[in-house]
Amino acid sequence: MPRPARHSAAAIEDAGLVPVTALAGVGPSLAKALARLGLERVQDLWFHLPLRYEDRTRITPIRDLAIGESAQVEGVVEAVERGFRYRPQLRVAIGDDSHATLSLRFFHFNRAQAEQFAPGARFLCYGEVRHGTQGPEMVHPEYRRVLGAASVATEERLTPIYPTTEGLGQKRLTGVIARALERLPDAESLELIPIEVRASLQLASLREALLTVHRPAADADIAAFALGAHPAQQRLAFEELLTHHLSLKRLRAQVRRHAAPALVGDGAMRSALRANLPFALTRAQQRVIAEIEHDLAKPVPMLRLVQGDVGSGKTVVAASAALAAVEAGCQVALVAPTELLAEQHWNNFRNWMQPLGIELVWLVGKVLGRAREAARAAVASGAPIVIGTHALMQEGVTFRHLGLAIIDEQHRFGVHQRLSLRDKGRNGDVVPHQLVLTATPIPRTLAMTAYAHLDVSVIDELPPGRTPVQTVAISNARRGEVIERIRAACAEGRQAYWVCTLIEESEQLEAQAAEVAYAELTAALPDLRIGLVHGRLKPKEKVAAMDAFKAGDSRVLIATTVIEVGVDVPNASLMVIENAERLGLAQLHQLRGRVGRGSAASSCVLLYQTPLSRAARARLEVMRETSDGFRIAEKDLELRGPGELLGTRQTGQLQFRVADLVRDAALLPSVQRVGEALLRDHPDLVQRLIARWIGGAARYAGA
Ligand code: ADP
Ligand code: MG
Repeated sequence: MPRPARHSAAAIEDAGLVPVTALAGVGPSLAKALARLGLERVQDLWFHLPLRYEDRTRITPIRDLAIGESAQVEGVVEAVERGFRYRPQLRVAIGDDSHATLSLRFFHFNRAQAEQFAPGARFLCYGEVRHGTQGPEMVHPEYRRVLGAASVATEERLTPIYPTTEGLGQKRLTGVIARALERLPDAESLELIPIEVRASLQLASLREALLTVHRPAADADIAAFALGAHPAQQRLAFEELLTHHLSLKRLRAQVRRHAAPALVGDGAMRSALRANLPFALTRAQQRVIAEIEHDLAKPVPMLRLVQGDVGSGKTVVAASAALAAVEAGCQVALVAPTELLAEQHWNNFRNWMQPLGIELVWLVGKVLGRAREAARAAVASGAPIVIGTHALMQEGVTFRHLGLAIIDEQHRFGVHQRLSLRDKGRNGDVVPHQLVLTATPIPRTLAMTAYAHLDVSVIDELPPGRTPVQTVAISNARRGEVIERIRAACAEGRQAYWVCTLIEESEQLEAQAAEVAYAELTAALPDLRIGLVHGRLKPKEKVAAMDAFKAGDSRVLIATTVIEVGVDVPNASLMVIENAERLGLAQLHQLRGRVGRGSAASSCVLLYQTPLSRAARARLEVMRETSDGFRIAEKDLELRGPGELLGTRQTGQLQFRVADLVRDAALLPSVQRVGEALLRDHPDLVQRLIARWIGGAARYAGA
């Protein structure tokens, strides 16, 4: 293979950007399997990194094997035993020069395999060592017959184990990656991080880092690799975090290059709203409203995130922002991720806006036919406020003069979707302001990377007079007592939620669990009307169940996690969460936030299955200790890691290949510093970094 010409950007792009089919031995079916892993171009293979490593560089004497560790041994068959007592079984004893014996045990094997293990034959085996009935054993080890008496050649490097997919074996994948690595350009051509930056942070070249990660030397620090702390991994993590930071910053710069309407009204509607509220705004709400109004008054698009714990009162902040736009003669779109949540906003906004004589338009997926046409026409002719779901972002909806887009619970939307709303409001070079609301608190350092494109306002205070929710964790064995608690709460005129959760992200299984709980609770509490909502019901049935619960007709609501966001029934004072041990802290916190909304003392029962893992026990403990969302978020980071805290569902744009926001948090200050310098001095490198790490997903950045 010819070496790529040095220094020519085009040559590097050729080397990395060619499709995987350019590699020897990659035909259509292998390409298809690779595509399932997101590996389409040769450079995708460079960046497909091992999950872990196996050490086959040495042969461990049997005497030195450690239980629980994986090792490679070489030995001679001493005895073979076939058993059929419970199921077919093959046990092979092998011995080596250390005068110890290891059992190999197989439950699935064919005759040829069994016959291979003849006494005196020599084998090389790799597997995890366990306690067997007769000393150490390996169950279904990998093995290879060694011919001749001489000791076999071992691997020269640690063996990488890659994430893979069905139908694509480790060997084949490793081979393709090795061929892709042959096409790595020389260090200088591949490098996108300026030498002075690498020198100051002591970063290796990318080429060296990639080769180290794919083929670590026999003496590499395998423990450091397992922790993601190896300098080669840190080098890659740095570049990846830097790239994400840059892409968000660039997105921000691009949006901010547009103009936006300067929204300066006379404040009359906002005063009227405040005067009509049955409560006074908290200091935090007032501060955040002022921050938003300050942005809206400028002719530059606002990009602001409002973070506020569940129940901190984000809705009224959004309403106040909306009125600032309406006063200035612009339209406002409020988009929620679910119909349920959109409806909640609709009800609030109607209560607040109707007395002011403001027309509201309702537009969700189920608004069809003539009603839909009417809603679209109203939006097109300039109706001041439209509330809905993603249906709002679909083709055919055009605004006359959209000045402000408010997106609730942004983690459910990708950056793309948000931009599509922005583009709707586009009027030549003028784009609307954007306000994003989220109830997922994130510690500050992480927020600066995760939301590098947004300014952040925090509502860090709850409205007064809330009684904290009493939280208890109870074993499922005491389920009966929990059902009694529901009976008692309902006898006092209160209402209760019973939430069914499953570890699998399967709506169907979750729905089944809810049906089972429904049957159980209706049998145990025959005098109470019980409602049921889950994702498999028809929208109409869901709405009916929710309405009955809101109206107090049904006293208990059995639900799946569909109620996680947006349900507001102040009379509900008891929340039971089944299989609480399976949920992350963020989700538990969201669910618990459904109660404690009225003045009555509320409680939350975390029903768990034993045995509890240590991590699960720690999570339940945190839930009992605190109800502060930011504290819970920090604990969540400690206990679970950000992948789970943020969740892919929650941050469409934040899927890292190597980096881990929490593990690599120490890199973030330099990521920010270097990021600024690159944007200023090396825009060409920024572009290429984004193409390398984010590739097609970076379309939004150019939008
Ligand atoms: P979230 O931030 O979770 O969206 P909401 O906006 O739904 O919170 O507010 C939760 C509840 O608190 C609502 O019933 C709302 O009317 C009420 N609320 C909001 N602000 C205040 C306040 N300053 N004082 C008292 N109650 C408030
Ligand atoms: Mg809300």
